[in-house]
Amino acid sequence: MKFTVLGSGTAVPHPQRSSSGYWLETVNGSLLLDCGASAIHRMAQENLDWANLDAIWISHFHLDHIGGLTPFLFGMKNAPDTQKRRKPLRIFGAKGLKKLLENFDKANDYKLFAQPFPVEIVEVAPLENFEILPETEAVALDTPHTVESLAIRITDENDKTIVYTSDTGFTKEIGTFASDADLLVMECSFFKDKPIEKHLELSEAIYLVRYAKPKRVVLTHFYAKWDTVNFEKEVAKLSPMCEVIEAKDGLRLEIN
Ligand SMILES: [Zn+2]
Ligand SMILES: [Zn+2]
Repeated sequence: MKFTVLGSGTAVPHPQRSSSGYWLETVNGSLLLDCGASAIHRMAQENLDWANLDAIWISHFHLDHIGGLTPFLFGMKNAPDTQKRRKPLRIFGAKGLKKLLENFDKANDYKLFAQPFPVEIVEVAPLENFEILPETEAVALDTPHTVESLAIRITDENDKTIVYTSDTGFTKEIGTFASDADLLVMECSFFKDKPIEKHLELSEAIYLVRYAKPKRVVLTHFYAKWDTVNFEKEVAKLSPMCEVIEAKDGLRLEIN
């Protein structure tokens, strides 16, 4: 699998970090993990084949994670690149996703679902196994962030695993859920003294890394206070026992 960071920031505008979006390319198709407002243009900037994107995962309904989804559907509807497309686009997320998108669509009669290709919305429940791409299994875990927020664990046909926590407060369950992952993509909104309980700060994130024992970790979803922190030095102080990478917009990794 190939992993690309589209946005390593939050909802707050930042000159280098755009809002959440991660592209995952597998032999069986492509998957966008969250779709912040900037993600739709970031896909084009990274030369990713957005017109043939197979599936989208929406972790929760905060606008830095879903705010680009309806503009993306709006753009795809008339894009020359999608007029010959016939394969479906599947959008996965928690219960309530369908109603939210339908309400947005109705708000101005956008007809976002009248595309040249079928758009399928699939609502998943925590701990339910589902196929997010052909031969690619997924399972979600509810997280302490919003009522609907979910982490996801994805396993491809070669048994390579990526776990994406998205936004979450601290719970050991995330560590169990992420155990032995080939890549753990975890939020780390704050360095220390977090002002919001339902996010992680560095010591909690590294605790979960030590608990989960993944092969590699990408920390992401950084607020601006991180800008003055020496990431590598502070991570090293906490002995994570595996490689911990600071997400940056445009970061690319191979999972094999
Ligand atoms: Zn967020
Ligand atoms: Zn959030």
